[in-house]
Amino acid sequence: MEDKDIRTRAVHVVNRPLPNGSWPLSVPLVQSSAFAFDSASELAEAMASPDGQYVYSRRGNPTVRALEHTLADLEGGASAIAFASGMGAISGVLLALLRPGDHVIALRCLYGGTCAALTDLADRYGVDVTYISGDEVAEFEAAAGPRTRLLLLETIANPTGQVPDLPGLLAAARRRGVVSAVDNSLASPVLCRPIELGADIVLHSTTKYLAGHSDVLGGAAIFADDGLRQEIWPRTVELGASADPFAAWLTLRGIPTLPLRMRAHCANAEVLSVRLAAHPAVTAVHWPWLPAHPSYATARKALSGGGGLLSFELAGGREAGRVFVEGVRVARLALSLGGVETLVTHPASTSHRELGEEALAAAGIGAGLVRMSVGIEDPDDLWGDIEQALSKLVLA
Ligand SMILES: *Cc1c(COP(=O)(O)O)cnc(C)c1O
Repeated sequence: MEDKDIRTRAVHVVNRPLPNGSWPLSVPLVQSSAFAFDSASELAEAMASPDGQYVYSRRGNPTVRALEHTLADLEGGASAIAFASGMGAISGVLLALLRPGDHVIALRCLYGGTCAALTDLADRYGVDVTYISGDEVAEFEAAAGPRTRLLLLETIANPTGQVPDLPGLLAAARRRGVVSAVDNSLASPVLCRPIELGADIVLHSTTKYLAGHSDVLGGAAIFADDGLRQEIWPRTVELGASADPFAAWLTLRGIPTLPLRMRAHCANAEVLSVRLAAHPAVTAVHWPWLPAHPSYATARKALSGGGGLLSFELAGGREAGRVFVEGVRVARLALSLGGVETLVTHPASTSHRELGEEALAAAGIGAGLVRMSVGIEDPDDLWGDIEQALSKLVLA
C-alpha cells in the first residue's frame, strides 16, 4: 500500500489474511488478556521474543498490533507502540529515553500534561529542560550541549496555532545526534508526517482526530527506525500504560474516515476563522492558515491544511468568554478536541480560572480567549450558532 494515497491506505491497511484463506473485512477484536499454549517450551520462547507469539496483552495483542501497523503505515514509520492514552505515550517515551543529568529541549507552549510531565522530570528526576519558541533553529543550537538527549516539539500548538520550524529544527537535531519527538495529535498524519521531515518519534493522543468520535482514550508512539522501538518497548511494558484491545478496536474503527473528517474539519475551520475575523465582537483569530497568523508561512509549508482547532479573543474579556461558551446551542462546552462534534472552552473561566489577568497574559492566554475544536457539521449551522451566541454579548 506504500505507493497509495493516504485516503486509500487509511481504509485498506488493516486487512491481513488469516491462515484459513479468507479474512474478515473488519479487524477482529481479540478481547483476551492472555494467550494459551500447548507446549511449555513454546511459551518460554514466546516470552523471550517481543515480536513472537502473543503471550499477555500488556506486551502485545493482535488487535493492538493491527492498530500499531496502521499508525506506522500512516505516519511513514517503521513501527509503533500503542498506549492507553496520549499521556501514556508521552510519559512512556520520556521515562524510557531519559536518565538523570540528561537535557531536553522543548517547545515553550506544549500541551499542559506534557509540560507537567517535564516539570516533574526536572524537579524529581534531575532532568534539565530548556524551553524554546520553535521559530528559529539558532535557539536550538544555542541551547544544545553534550548532554542534550531529546528535542520535543508539537506540530501545531494549542490554543495559539503556532507551527514551529519543523524541517529546520529536526534537521539540526539529527546533525547533533539528538533524538527528536513530535506530538502530531493536532495535525494527524493527514496534514503532516513529521518522520518525512526528519523526526525520530511521532507521538499521538489518538483520543483526538485519529479515533475521532469522542468515545475512546488512546495514544501512540511511532518510530522512524525500529531500533528505537526495540530499545523503548521493554520499559513501556514495565510502565504498563498499554492499549486495551477494545480501545484499539474503536480507534481502528475511526481511522478509515480520518482523511474525510480532516478535510471537513479544515474547511469548516477556514470558513469560521474568516467570518470570526470580520465580526466586531472579535479582536483576534488564531488559525495557522489565516494569512494574518504569525506562523502562516511555516504552516503553509509544513501542513497540507490549517487543522480543525482555532481560537479567538472576545473584546468583552473574561465575562464575554463565559457568556459565549454558555450561549452556544450546536457547539458543546467540553474539554478535548478532534471529535466529529464542535466543542468550545474558555480557559479563563475553566482550566485557568485561578489565574489573574497578569498570570493569564504570562501564559499567553487572553481573558476573553475562546478555543473551538471545529467539528464536521454544516458550516452555516455552526456560524449561525456562533452568531447567536455573539449577539448575547452585544446585548449583555
Ligand atoms: C490531548 C492531548 C494529549 C494528551 O492525550 P490524552 O489522550 O488525553 O492522554 C497530548 N498532546 C496533545 C497535543 C493533546 O491534544
